[in-house]
Amino acid sequence: MYDKNTFAHELSFMRRPHTKELDGVDIAVVGVPYDLATSNRPGARFGPRAIRAASAQLAWGKHWPWNINPFEKLNVIDYGDLDIDYGYSSSIIGAEITIDIIKILKAGASTLTLGGDHWATYPILKAYNEMHGPLALIHFDAHSDTWNEKVQRFDHGTMFYHAINEGLIDPDHSIQIGIRTTNEDRMGMKWVTADLVHNRSAVFVAKQIAERVRTKKVYLTVDIDCLDPSVAPGTGTPVCGGLFMHQVQNIMHLLAPRINIVGMDVMEVSPPYDHAEITSLAAATIALDLLCFQASS
Ligand code: MN
Ligand code: MN
Repeated sequence: MYDKNTFAHELSFMRRPHTKELDGVDIAVVGVPYDLATSNRPGARFGPRAIRAASAQLAWGKHWPWNINPFEKLNVIDYGDLDIDYGYSSSIIGAEITIDIIKILKAGASTLTLGGDHWATYPILKAYNEMHGPLALIHFDAHSDTWNEKVQRFDHGTMFYHAINEGLIDPDHSIQIGIRTTNEDRMGMKWVTADLVHNRSAVFVAKQIAERVRTKKVYLTVDIDCLDPSVAPGTGTPVCGGLFMHQVQNIMHLLAPRINIVGMDVMEVSPPYDHAEITSLAAATIALDLLCFQASS
């Protein structure tokens, strides 16, 4: 049987084996098909499936510009999606996601999560905090996700407000890239706005990031709306003036292997608003870049 066709067989991320067996696993790719914390356009529950489908197009050996096949260096599995009961909203879902991620981390693997709306990064950070203590955050997004007009709100625009207040991340070593929405209170985090990315070089941006996080353990989170809507229309809250793929890819490539990333995610892909799979292809490419990042570290 010829099994090399990328368009054939069941979906998994980069055709990795679907398994819950964690012995010897370096990175578990985990889907979080949840979008009930979305403030505008929903649909990110279909994100993990779409990213897996798009990733099949990339499953061809060495990945440009890394010139490596990360799966020759890392044991990566597709853990499947977390089982989420949408009938029990924020508190139960938060606790369940944290418990599931802790289980993976305790087995010695790290996670590459595919979202799902960005809220899920909060329960994931709780799990990482339990294992590693406060982390530096590298955050690609059009939004700061620290809005706090109503302190108890839990949605995909407030989770880093809570994460900082609860000590899950260390704002003094955290940096947000691609920001192009107003928020008076940066909560101590450094911004590299979208304008700055456009007007300066990828070398400049990578330097800002490296100087900010230094040798700290890092959680890297990518909201796909960091990209311009012309590149990634399939997302909940698109904002014009955003980054292009070559900018994100260059920055990632320049950062490796200087940064100590312990966990990562790619969130907010909403396939119902996508066209020609360009958003899910961008997300799958960034996810593969992150695996190459880890494989070259
Ligand atoms: Mn966003
Ligand atoms: Mn976000």
